[in-house]
Amino acid sequence: MTSLRGEGLVRIYGGVVAVADVTFDFPEGKFVCLLGPSGCGKTTLLRLIAGLEAPTAGRILFDGVDLSRVPAHDRDIGMVFQSLALFPHLTVAENVAYPLRIRGASGTVRKARVDELLDLVKLHDVQERRIHQLSGGQRQRVAIARALAIEPALFLLDEPLSALDAMLREHMQVELRLLQQRLGITTIVVTHDQREAMTMADLVVVMNQGRILQAAPPIDIYHNPADSFVASFIGTTNLLACRRVSGDAVEMLGRRVSIPNARASGLSVGAGGMLTVRPEDVSLSPAVGEDDFEGVVEFIRDLGASVEISVAVRGQTMLSVSTPKDRPQVETGQTVGVSFNAGRAAVTPR
Ligand code: ATP
Repeated sequence: MTSLRGEGLVRIYGGVVAVADVTFDFPEGKFVCLLGPSGCGKTTLLRLIAGLEAPTAGRILFDGVDLSRVPAHDRDIGMVFQSLALFPHLTVAENVAYPLRIRGASGTVRKARVDELLDLVKLHDVQERRIHQLSGGQRQRVAIARALAIEPALFLLDEPLSALDAMLREHMQVELRLLQQRLGITTIVVTHDQREAMTMADLVVVMNQGRILQAAPPIDIYHNPADSFVASFIGTTNLLACRRVSGDAVEMLGRRVSIPNARASGLSVGAGGMLTVRPEDVSLSPAVGEDDFEGVVEFIRDLGASVEISVAVRGQTMLSVSTPKDRPQVETGQTVGVSFNAGRAAVTPR
């Protein structure tokens, strides 16, 4: 199995630590999304992998080979930049053929490969056009086809869809994921959009301040976030201060509640942490039951396909989401019973 491994990677620019001691293992053929807020070091990590930056410390191994001795142009990597960097004076077909020309491929080989790639990204009909005669989505596909021309072992993309409007962006996310699955190529995409990461990735790598906070399949991160930063970055959530008071019990909102996940939280008994409760796990009822928290409905947002209801509970706002079918019969200003699925709640360090 070929895999990409980073060991103790550090990149410091002047006094700025862009990447701080990062270690990772990305298995072959996976789609990896580097996700995090602006300035967290995603692009720098991608550029280190590409060989466009040298690490201040640490090393990168590809298939067990230390890449620090391999210059960027020999790394067998295809890359798509945020700017796309297409050649405006060349046609679509010439853009895609360019890396093959540089590598000295014959005209026959080039033509066959370009045909194959244009089929792959569905651009055959526009192959004679120049870049300014293309839509945003078509340009994106040219950049993807050009990066794949050399049949790279590793495919890297830096915010590839950020210039597209919301609808096209969602469409291209699905296209990119399907393409990657068809080719089985190890792919790493930088994004700051959690929905994009959850759509495409086998493995989401959440970064903050130059560090990896968690690397796991998206749904694992959603249900078992490593800490409250990760919990709030992936999906919408309710974060409630809590304190672990025994094996699986926490104290929260003035009450002792049993949370099975508390054992795995890494919090010692007596320590304060955060309880993550996803809005779809919060239920509201018109009457306050014995085990319920008491809340007051602050706001109801009916979005057609879903209904979001904010409730004030002991000075905190909790969000509940339901389908129209399961919508609780409550009104703004009403006192309601609030409960949540403790089995699906996660306790994390703050
Ligand atoms: P964004 O989503 O905004 O692109 P990012 O997560 O990709 O952000 P990086 O571009 O990797 O973040 O930057 C990480 C940190 O390193 C930032 O504080 C940035 O200002 C700094 N940095 C990046 N490149 C350089 C450089 N060439 N010189 C100095 N500082 C840099």
